[in-house]
Amino acid sequence: MAPGATRRVAVIEGEDAAPEAMRPTLELLSRLPLDIEWVWPKVGDAGLEAHGSLFPDEARRVIDEADTTLFGSTSGKSAPALMYLRWGKGTYANVRPARWMPGCKSPLADPRGIDLVVVRENLEDLYLGIEGDSSDLDSLDLQSRTARRPLRELGPGKYALKLITEAGSERVIRFAFELARKRKAAGGRGHLTCSSKYNMLPVSDGLFRQTAERLAPEYPDIDLDVYIVDDFAQRMVTRTQELDVVVLPNLYGDILSDLAAGIVGGLGLAASGCYGDDYAYFESAHGTAPDIAGRNIINPTATILSAAMMLEHLGFTEESARIETAVEQVYAEGKQLTPDQGGTSHTTDFCAAVGDRL
Ligand code: ATP
Repeated sequence: MAPGATRRVAVIEGEDAAPEAMRPTLELLSRLPLDIEWVWPKVGDAGLEAHGSLFPDEARRVIDEADTTLFGSTSGKSAPALMYLRWGKGTYANVRPARWMPGCKSPLADPRGIDLVVVRENLEDLYLGIEGDSSDLDSLDLQSRTARRPLRELGPGKYALKLITEAGSERVIRFAFELARKRKAAGGRGHLTCSSKYNMLPVSDGLFRQTAERLAPEYPDIDLDVYIVDDFAQRMVTRTQELDVVVLPNLYGDILSDLAAGIVGGLGLAASGCYGDDYAYFESAHGTAPDIAGRNIINPTATILSAAMMLEHLGFTEESARIETAVEQVYAEGKQLTPDQGGTSHTTDFCAAVGDRL
């Protein structure tokens, strides 16, 4: 991206309560002096209406011509667009920060100083979505290492394929090392934690661990810790402040990043960005919160902070920091918080409070 050029951002609102977070977030951004052209690819119902498809070619073109995409959450109709943003654009590193801000409703007695980032591998592992009937595997003559029996003797069932590739592991672990280095340069701890179930799955999860250990000598300024994922889950709760950057295969990353969000105050705070070599897009880590749709009470913090990550990616570093500071101030004051944070304010009140502090 050329410095100083107008940036183009594609916006996809998503479904259920997601637009209720996205719209006031965009209004907030409009208060900043940002040289951004916003474009709205027609996906989901809008795509069906205009072009007869949930993800028409025209929407793909709009995304391709934009510098990045800001995505609300999807519960289905925008999902084909999301698949394109992930697998089509190769956004392999899902970055999910969990930083406690004073005023956020953490369940920990002392959440002060929690500032970690989960880097979740975003494209492979069980999320390749290869499942089927176990009888499909009969011809492979597979043997269970633990049950010590041939697979076909276990009876009818279904399987899901977990694939950890060398290249997929290396690129995301490198990304995590680089992020730890960048954070260290800004005063961070210079620490990377890698975790997987390498004791039970020494071949697949073992590869993930071995890749981290193989790359570690290239990053002598970063300390690497390795834990089995169940042990790591308890450390995440009991020794949260010790964590800096954490790198995990896809499924563990999905689950444990929600745990990290819960530790600092809930999914409503969980921002995220998905980065590839040539493209990145930004979306809150939570889902569409269908149970609270239409009530103007969804916590927009995750969407606002995802937008702040996007601004930083686009080179609007100062504006990104202004948004984060304004959000921090609203939590510190504690007067305009949404119900998930113990408040009684509406989504739009929270956004207005952030806007007033910009
Ligand atoms: P997905 O499968 O897409 O991850 P999910 O079905 O796990 O989604 P979410 O939509 O993430 O579920 O919601 C889980 C719970 O957290 C719901 O009760 C929802 O209302 C709540 N929640 C999620 N996001 C927010 C938010 N931004 N503000 C308030 N509550 C939220």
